[in-house]
Amino acid sequence: MSPPIGTAPRDRLRIAIQKSGRLAEPARSLLAACGLSWRESRDKLFCYGESLPVDLLLVRDDDIPGLIADGVCDLGIVGRNELDEQAGERIRNGLPPAYRALRGLGFGQCRLMLAVPDEWEWTGPAQLQGTRIATSYPAILANWLQAEGVDAQVVELSGSVEIAPRLGTADLICDLVSSGATLAANHLKPVHNLLDSEAVLAGPAGAFDDVRAGLAQMLLRRVDGVLQLKDRKLLMFNAEREALPALERLLQDAGPLVQLPGANGALSLQTMCEGAVSWQQLEELERAGARGLMVLAVERSLA
Ligand code: ATP
Ligand code: ZN
Repeated sequence: MSPPIGTAPRDRLRIAIQKSGRLAEPARSLLAACGLSWRESRDKLFCYGESLPVDLLLVRDDDIPGLIADGVCDLGIVGRNELDEQAGERIRNGLPPAYRALRGLGFGQCRLMLAVPDEWEWTGPAQLQGTRIATSYPAILANWLQAEGVDAQVVELSGSVEIAPRLGTADLICDLVSSGATLAANHLKPVHNLLDSEAVLAGPAGAFDDVRAGLAQMLLRRVDGVLQLKDRKLLMFNAEREALPALERLLQDAGPLVQLPGANGALSLQTMCEGAVSWQQLEELERAGARGLMVLAVERSLA
C-alpha cells in the first residue's frame, strides 16, 4: 500500500515527475540512470523506491511547483517555463519564493516566444502597445511587458493559444515553440524570445533538515555524474614515442593525454573526449601513428 500523500514519514525523498507527456520518459530514464528503481503501484500515481528510499509521484507537470511549495514533494522535474511562471505568479501575489531550479537537465528544450501573424512586419516590442496577447504564461509575459514598458492586454488561455489570432480573441500570441511547425501551420511567425527553457530538477527554496538532505545531495551528485557522462568517450590506443607530438596536436581539444608504458617500448595512451569521436578522427589518428584505437562509452563516474 502506498503511504497517503503528504503524511508519509520524512525519511524518504519524494520526487514529482510528469505522468505522461514530453518530460515523462526522459525524467524516468535520468532517475533510473542515477541508480533508482521502483515498485510499480496499481494506481500508477505513486512508485515506491526499491533501490533507495526515493519515491516517485506521477502528476501533471503544472502541479509540480505547487507540490514542492506545499512540501508534498521534495524535488520535481519540470520545465523551466512552468517553474518561472508559477514563481512569477507567487511574486505577483506577494508570496515568498518557494522553489528553485537546482540543475538544468538538457532535455525538454523549447523557447517561450512572441509570435505574430505572418503579414506583420515586426519592428520591436514598442509595436505591442495596446495589443491583445494570448498566452498560457501570463506572469512571465506580464513581467516582460512591464520591463519593456509596454502596455498590452494579456489574454490568458489554457490551451490552443495558437488559434487565438484567427478567432479574433487576440492579435498575437506568446507560446512555447520547439520546431515552429505549429506556428507555421497557423500562419504565425516567431519574432521575439522571452525564455530559453529546458527541464530542470527543482527543489524547495530552503534546505532539508532531516535524512532527506543527504538523499538529495547524493541524488544531485549522481545527476551531475550522469549529465557529465552523456557525451563522454574514453579514447585508448598505442603509439611509438616519436608519434606523440603529432597525436597530441590532433587531440588538443580532448582532455589530458595519459601515457603508460606499453609493449615493446611503445606507449599505451588514453584520453577523455567530449562528444562523439568520428571515423574520420580515428583515421587521422591512425595516419599519425596511433594503433589499436578504441572508443569506449563511460558508464559511471564520480567527480
Ligand atoms: P500535462 O498533462 O502534464 O499537463 P502538458 O500538455 O502540459 O502535460 P507537455 O506538452 O508534455 O505538457 O509539455 C511538458 C513540457 O515540455 C513543457 O512545459 C515544456 O517545458 C516542454 N516542451 C518542450 N518542447 C515543447 C513544445 N514544443 N511545446 C510544449 N512544451 C514543450
Ligand atoms: Zn501541463
